[in-house]
Amino acid sequence: MAKFDEVVAANKQFASSFAKGGLPMPPARAVAILTCMDARLHPEQFCGLDFGDAHVIRNAGGRASDDAVRSLVISQRLLGTDEIIVIHHTDCGMLTFSNEQLVAKITKTSDPMPATGTSSPSQIWSKASSTMSTSCAAHPSSPTTSPSGEPSTTSNPEGSRR
Ligand SMILES: [Zn+2]
Repeated sequence: MAKFDEVVAANKQFASSFAKGGLPMPPARAVAILTCMDARLHPEQFCGLDFGDAHVIRNAGGRASDDAVRSLVISQRLLGTDEIIVIHHTDCGMLTFSNEQLVAKITKTSDPMPATGTSSPSQIWSKASSTMSTSCAAHPSSPTTSPSGEPSTTSNPEGSRR
């Protein structure tokens, strides 16, 4: 059985007894968690979360990438979360290679791209990795007030990258 078919079969079984489809969209515990995509991590279990409790945003390394920050902004500004928890872990696979090693692997194993102006896989990676580590506080979408509502003295209106 193909992996896709296995997932569809498991979902059919899960959906047959799922009874929490009416939960409100805003997370009940008003928290967003940013963590790694590592398959060994099960944030809902190790954080004691149930359906509808929290937003869990995952990527390679649990990085505050532009897309992760976008999700956190939506979580906080539109869906009522008021706390962000960043969770990293031991034995993270993202510590086992450098960007240069990954680019070399992509370049070596990828088919040549057509000459249509499309970026090659290594160019796409280089562009993405240049913005991998955005500080939440420095991101242009970050609030300019502290949690207490006072104007922040540490905000960076220029949105520099760290
Ligand atoms: Zn990891």
